[in-house]
Amino acid sequence: MSTLPRLSLFAAPGSSAVDRRAADWLSACGIDARPVQAPALEGLQGGSWELDAPESALSALRALLQEETTEDLSALLTPAAMLGSRRTLVVTDVDSTLIQEEVIELLAAHAGREAEVAAVTERAMRGELDFAASLHHRVQALKGLPVRVIAEVAEQVTPMPGALDLIAAAHANGHRVGAVSGGFIQVLEPLAQALGLDHAQANELGVRDGVLTGTVEGPVVDRAAKAAALRRWCAADDIKATHTVALGDGANDLDLLTIAGYAVGVRPKPALRNACDGVLGVRRLDTVSAALGWS
Ligand SMILES: [Mg+2]
Repeated sequence: MSTLPRLSLFAAPGSSAVDRRAADWLSACGIDARPVQAPALEGLQGGSWELDAPESALSALRALLQEETTEDLSALLTPAAMLGSRRTLVVTDVDSTLIQEEVIELLAAHAGREAEVAAVTERAMRGELDFAASLHHRVQALKGLPVRVIAEVAEQVTPMPGALDLIAAAHANGHRVGAVSGGFIQVLEPLAQALGLDHAQANELGVRDGVLTGTVEGPVVDRAAKAAALRRWCAADDIKATHTVALGDGANDLDLLTIAGYAVGVRPKPALRNACDGVLGVRRLDTVSAALGWS
């Protein structure tokens, strides 16, 4: 098992060669690298390099990949500690990370207020609005919806490509997987069961007399609560925080990604860019398990 950090690149076929991109980045940072067998993923070209470099050079590479990763490329700088980890906890955000949709927008569509709610979501995920205040505002738009729309929306959500492979690879290697969401537990719970997740946490939509009350029950799962979930699940599973992978896309994933041993942004909003060890421009979660050597 390698004790050196590793750079892995994946790109859609036809996009500029991963070898050339890696060579450019590595030479710009003055890093000596040795190609290692690239994990094969269907429909993607890939390359992997073991890096013998001081932390300052790795930081420069991290900054470069955050800056230059485009939507047809995924670039992951996997820390050495993660490659040697026998027991790892993966904690993933849900909306636009584990699944392709934003659940609150699907719910709002039932209320005919999708555009309004989507605009608030976009601003919140860029970090322009306080998450809890924006959540209350958006949930209010759902007031009066019949409770059956929750089940309809739960049926509508689609896992991100490669999500099932990432979860299967984690479990096959003895690791744990949790999902934490600023969305809603009534949608996440059935999804977590279907995907075989080990942990799940999200907000609870208020329901009374068969309709949504337009409120959230209990404390809001915000930026700080997401990081707290990682710490709690680490304690429950006896896993060190340095042996955690976090995946997210929005500003409310910042604390989660910051405390994780390995932070992966899934088409991350600018608020997250400086926190990422890996950036997925290509939305394929199996690139993460491949970069970790799990598949
Ligand atoms: Mg999200």
